[in-house]
Amino acid sequence: MNFDAYARTGVDLVNARLDDLDDLRALIPDDNAWMREEVADRDLAIFRRAQKRLRDVFEYGTSGRDAEAVAELNALLEAFPVQPRISGHDSSDWHMHVTSRGASVSSEYLAGAVWGLSVWLCEYGSARFGVCADERCGNVYLDTSSNCCRRFCSERCATRSHVAAHRARKRAAVGDQLPVPAQPEPLTPVS
Ligand SMILES: [Zn+2]
Ligand SMILES: [Zn+2]
Repeated sequence: MNFDAYARTGVDLVNARLDDLDDLRALIPDDNAWMREEVADRDLAIFRRAQKRLRDVFEYGTSGRDAEAVAELNALLEAFPVQPRISGHDSSDWHMHVTSRGASVSSEYLAGAVWGLSVWLCEYGSARFGVCADERCGNVYLDTSSNCCRRFCSERCATRSHVAAHRARKRAAVGDQLPVPAQPEPLTPVS
């Protein structure tokens, strides 16, 4: 099972708008297009609750609350159990589903997402669950950087935040009306 792809569906869910069923349909990847026709209002409520709980997992991970991240994922694994099954929507197309026959769209999607994020945590650690440092954004991400130092969900947020910080420094400097501090004289070696 490609747990990485499943983990990413969890990230996509936390970052998604879920105002109505169209938002939910937009969240569903193309290879699961059948779900778009089957989603119902009760799925929307379940997705919204799971979205909140998965966001908590990222908040715990990013703030060093490892045990709480694990406890929440274990509770979610219990609520959305995986039961693998071979399925085919037309007979030439065998592929895996992660829940039993007749399961709702929310059960199928969430079982996969929770499973993926759980394996991801075991593999890489909860410290790599991140929440974007740009407060206006709030998106979550999985930190795959080599040194575990990523702070933003995207290049776009990183740039926007750096530009804002630069402007704030400039404004502060002008506001203070202080002369630019002189560079210290380089030390001349005593010969
Ligand atoms: Zn299928
Ligand atoms: Zn962001």
